[in-house]
Amino acid sequence: MVVHTQAEYDAWRGGRGCVLVPTMGALHAGHAALIAIGAALVRARGLAGCAVTIFVNPTQFNEPADFERYPRTLGADVRLCRDAGAACVFVPSVETVYPTGARTEVQLPEVATRPGLEDAFRPGHFAGVCRVVSRLFELTRPTAAVFGAKDWQQLQVVRAMGHGVEIVPGATVREADGLAMSSRNRFLRGDERGRAVAVWRALTQANAQRTAPDAEAAMMAALQQAGLEVEYAAVRDAETLGPVGAQPARALIAARLGSVRLIDNAPWVERLASL
Ligand code: AMP
Repeated sequence: MVVHTQAEYDAWRGGRGCVLVPTMGALHAGHAALIAIGAALVRARGLAGCAVTIFVNPTQFNEPADFERYPRTLGADVRLCRDAGAACVFVPSVETVYPTGARTEVQLPEVATRPGLEDAFRPGHFAGVCRVVSRLFELTRPTAAVFGAKDWQQLQVVRAMGHGVEIVPGATVREADGLAMSSRNRFLRGDERGRAVAVWRALTQANAQRTAPDAEAAMMAALQQAGLEVEYAAVRDAETLGPVGAQPARALIAARLGSVRLIDNAPWVERLASL
């Protein structure tokens, strides 16, 4: 069922809880996997259903051109949602999400502004993400929401926001060669699609290194060798995204290739020198 207004959404949801999968549309198998997780949670907990929001959020784009060309494929998206097990697709207007005059003030958690990661290259992005997530939670009132590990820093930011909604992670879905699926991959031109696999190769090579600095250097070398313009290639504490400590670590990459900004990440496991 596709709904566009708050009243239609409320009529669908009734008084029962739901699981939310927030998206910007142009859906692919990665999104389908998140919806399948949502639908399984719905069955396990006897909730109303899994709802998918499709909203290209203007406040999280730093580049107007990126917002303008963001793919809009509603017909195919609705079919994918249904096939993956969503009960409701909510496509709100900008006015519904951001009514004039209303301004949801959000406090950015520390994990959003860690130096050298997303905030350094997309200033204001996480303020936009926190704002839209707060609004979408207000509009849809979910029990739980599913977010992809593909956007690792975003997942940690949303977890740290403090909104009372259970945040469930979904693993990154990849193409056969390892490239993380993304709505923007369709803009890779000519040999760029083949070269983009360097991101996955870099994450794999990071895990062959014993120390975090060596892992960062190995990632940088793999990316530059393929001609990618690296924004960051970093190993951080997986949860706080501060310096690596005793907790699990994560290798994170953002790099530009042609007109596309690729981001990806993977667990990074420190190998003991004595092994
Ligand atoms: P977006 O693609 O920006 O609309 O993101 C909507 C949700 O899908 C976010 O929680 C993303 O982290 C998630 N997502 C995007 N790409 C993938 C992928 N390849 N695998 C799993 N989840 C993904």
